[in-house]
Amino acid sequence: MIIKKQSIKMNEELIFELDRSDPLAGQRSQFSLPDGVIYLDGNSLGALPITTSARLKQVIEGEWGKELIRSWNTSGWYEMPRRIGAKIAHLIGAQAGEVIVADSTSVNLFKVLAAATQLRPERRLILSTSDNFPTDLYMAQGLIQLLGRGQELRLCNDTEVLDNINADTAVVMLTHVNYRTGRMLDMRAISAKAHEVGALIIWDLAHSAGALPVDLTGAKADFAVGCGYKYLNGGPGAPAFLFVAERHQANFSQPLSGWMGHNAPFAFDSNYTPAEGITRYLVGTQPVLSMTALECGVDTLLHVDMEQLRRKSLQLTDLFIRLIEEYCAGQGLTLVTPQEHDQRGSQVSFQHEHGYALMQALIARGVIGDFRAPDIVRFGVTPLYLRYADIWNAVQIMADILSTRDWDRPEFKQRAAVT
Ligand SMILES: *Cc1c(COP(=O)(O)O)cnc(C)c1O
Repeated sequence: MIIKKQSIKMNEELIFELDRSDPLAGQRSQFSLPDGVIYLDGNSLGALPITTSARLKQVIEGEWGKELIRSWNTSGWYEMPRRIGAKIAHLIGAQAGEVIVADSTSVNLFKVLAAATQLRPERRLILSTSDNFPTDLYMAQGLIQLLGRGQELRLCNDTEVLDNINADTAVVMLTHVNYRTGRMLDMRAISAKAHEVGALIIWDLAHSAGALPVDLTGAKADFAVGCGYKYLNGGPGAPAFLFVAERHQANFSQPLSGWMGHNAPFAFDSNYTPAEGITRYLVGTQPVLSMTALECGVDTLLHVDMEQLRRKSLQLTDLFIRLIEEYCAGQGLTLVTPQEHDQRGSQVSFQHEHGYALMQALIARGVIGDFRAPDIVRFGVTPLYLRYADIWNAVQIMADILSTRDWDRPEFKQRAAVT
């Protein structure tokens, strides 16, 4: 490792000082993290909260095991989608009653996109970005095909969104923070432009909810969806959430008209009548165990000042970028995350020709990030449980792997199913 003696000392002291004076340092104890791991993938699967296992055991053995079916009424199972939705609402600048937990992000996007397109029947265009997370584009393609009304999904570059919104646009469907580059779009400006031309806006908050302050009400957003297993720490495959602004809720009932979205599921009526409010976005019976884990995850964020979280996130990502410049210069890494704070989410990504092998070599040394095809190494920054020293150590390990070409081994080039 080629490191200037002087700069190690200076930087290490600075890092220790940053951790010592970090007002969020105590939050790490909310999580169970294995020794010897620097976890930079909380944007793909959030860490395990310490409360989750015991709470699940209680729900399984006490509520399911002893109370059996009575728990739907006596243990609050029935209310879970609305109750956890109200907690998430608090994190994304929405009102309780505008957010509900259900299904996956993909399915929720289908529901809100169906609603939004039906609210603008005379317009044909759905605008999104070519680098949007593919499932969002796939769901739009499937809906367009199903509706058979000649709608068109138009894609533009994520720096040219404002210029592509016009009077033909029915719906603008965007991910707030790009999953690959970490670029954050201007939610207020884009929402305002959509409304100015009479279009509706849908935000995908997969990489925003729990990662940074979001103000859906302030931005006058129409619809939103988001993910439970990333920054909300809800566990693998956790249920997702959706937001529908109160002003739109009564105007459309989504097409996946399952009984839990009926206004009286236990009347067992043979005709569908949508429930009042956000409940009409439910479909079938909720996965109680998964919702239990999600609630533990969401609870880790509820008492955290999101502005403080954001400040730490930016300091951690700034530090990451600066240390990579210092210790990994000339090693083929190209930063793809914007340097500007107002355009950066809570991750840092680099292109590298041998990105897959580099990430495997990092993981073998306990630095867990992930790889996004074709050539991006991605590092998620979760300020609740990351320390400044973690960033320092991760960069030192990366510098060593790059300078020794440790990544250049056959075992690091074997592609797994999940990258
Ligand atoms: C992670 C992610 C999803 C995940 O969708 P699921 O249906 O929950 O698998 C969707 N959209 C974006 C932008 C994501 O980053």
